[in-house]
Amino acid sequence: MSYCEKCGAQMDDTTRFCPVCGAENTAAAAQVVDPNLPPQGLNVMAIVGMGLSGFGIPGIIVSAIAKKRANSGQYRHPLGPLATAGIVVSILMTIFWIAWLIFVVVGLRELNY
Ligand SMILES: [Zn+2]
Repeated sequence: MSYCEKCGAQMDDTTRFCPVCGAENTAAAAQVVDPNLPPQGLNVMAIVGMGLSGFGIPGIIVSAIAKKRANSGQYRHPLGPLATAGIVVSILMTIFWIAWLIFVVVGLRELNY
């Protein structure tokens, strides 16, 4: 049991806001943050990985790290699927860039004739 800092009303430890005055239960807020906190920097990594996926290989590396971190916690992080998508898109883009490179090289060779 904890007590509201503002009005002193008794409330459950897990209650985020005081049922009487609506003030935030700082004890609950601190508890809530602890188990649900995503691994540090994961959000950024998953999003950056997705952003880099257009470049191919850098996207694979960053997304793979983000996915590893997403699966390392005690819970499945919601950004895990985004990291997976980042890997898939990165692989597709790598294939695209290789195909593009071959296309350019072949095209240049034909121009020389
Ligand atoms: Zn209160």
